[in-house]
Amino acid sequence: MNIDSHCPFCQSETEDLDHMFLGCTISHNYWRLVVFHNWINTNLPFNPHIGIIQMLNSVKATGPAVKMDRVITLLWSIWKTRNNMVFHSETPNPGTILIRAQKATAEWHIRHKYAINSHKQFNHQPPLSQPSTGRRHTRSHGGSHNVGSSK
Ligand SMILES: [Zn+2]
Repeated sequence: MNIDSHCPFCQSETEDLDHMFLGCTISHNYWRLVVFHNWINTNLPFNPHIGIIQMLNSVKATGPAVKMDRVITLLWSIWKTRNNMVFHSETPNPGTILIRAQKATAEWHIRHKYAINSHKQFNHQPPLSQPSTGRRHTRSHGGSHNVGSSK
């Protein structure tokens, strides 16, 4: 079995994560595109000479200046593009990479918001209305009474 270890984007260097996401000249164009479209702002600590983990740590250190969720979905979109090239012989389209990342980020936010709202609803449901017993109970001390049995 012959495995091609070349980067599918540039076809000139050995493919590894650091090269594919940061070192590859083709990936640079994708990063430039998202900055150009102001989707990831220019405070992005992009450095093709550091590893991807270091780069993500730098992004984290910038605080909210650079949105980590956007960086992550961009990486995911580049990865999807790479796989579509390798396994489906698709030609990469920089616009598609950006749009896919934007869609994924929007979808994540919607799902995240929905999950939080569902969680809130579940935990803050109003108490079930109790049927009237026709008489008021005073607080009982240790005694049990059947709330809800109306006779
Ligand atoms: Zn490359």
